[in-house]
Amino acid sequence: MTESNGKIRVVVVGAKGRMGREVVKTVLNDPQLELAGAVDRTLHQVDVGSVLGLGDIGVPFANRLGECLVQSNADVMIDFTNPAAVRDNVYTALEYGVRPVVGTTGMSQDDLLAWDRILREKGIGGIVAPNFAIGAILMMKFAAMAARYLPHVEIIELHHDQKLDAPSGTALKTAEMIAAERQSVRQGHPDEEEKLAGARGADFDGMRIHSVRLPGYVAHQEVIFGGVGQTLTIRHDSISRESFMPGVALAAKKVMELTGLVYGLEHLMF
Ligand code: NAP
Repeated sequence: MTESNGKIRVVVVGAKGRMGREVVKTVLNDPQLELAGAVDRTLHQVDVGSVLGLGDIGVPFANRLGECLVQSNADVMIDFTNPAAVRDNVYTALEYGVRPVVGTTGMSQDDLLAWDRILREKGIGGIVAPNFAIGAILMMKFAAMAARYLPHVEIIELHHDQKLDAPSGTALKTAEMIAAERQSVRQGHPDEEEKLAGARGADFDGMRIHSVRLPGYVAHQEVIFGGVGQTLTIRHDSISRESFMPGVALAAKKVMELTGLVYGLEHLMF
């Protein structure tokens, strides 16, 4: 909180995107947060509010993240861009001592480890969350609990058809949490054969993950467990991008108290 009004100064990267514009509105409406800047590669010096249909808000778009972070004296950078852009954005934030809150999915485990190390060296915090929806966090938690008793499981994730990475970050995180609770299981018939490559989905520690991409979806996931004579389905639906916003606002505040990287919103909730 570098300014005298005591608010956390936030720069939003990817602010014109589907998630980014919701984040801008959330920051503007939260009394503890202040929109210090917004980055878009193509827009420069145009008022953010006028582009997002909010009327002029006195914050112009910047097209260079580094400059924006310095000029705005930012505390926190929130990134909802794409898997190719997020890496450079986080390293830029770290270079300027700005705390990253990352919703973009598709980065590597090596990146997470490297960011954690740099954050610890700098004595500041960062948060990467593959899903900021509180209901989705509960779905993952319940799925991990169920896997102890019903180890045969498949994950079906369903997203809009503009999503770049598959499987989703949420599906991978769910699979990791399930794998931590159950013994590895070779699922399906030992002699099963795919007549079309990929028919059985991706393999994560013996469990299958299926990715559906269709217009009309936002972000949805089913975790299906099979036991003798029974199945259990745990399902979460984000029916609008507003579902992610309470989690994003929580992360922008909690990150100020952290040192090192937190991966997953559940670590801020439970
Ligand atoms: P989107 O609508 O395509 O928005 C991405 C934005 O990032 C666009 O405005 C794009 O600008 C901008 N961008 C791309 N490269 C950039 C760069 N180098 N510097 C600055 N801005 C850049 O995508 P979205 O649907 O909002 O999703 C964004 C990300 O969030 C995806 O990875 C998605 O999987 C993830 N997501 C996470 C959650 C969660 O809860 N963690 C929830 C939903 C989505 P251009 O149009 O100029 O390319």
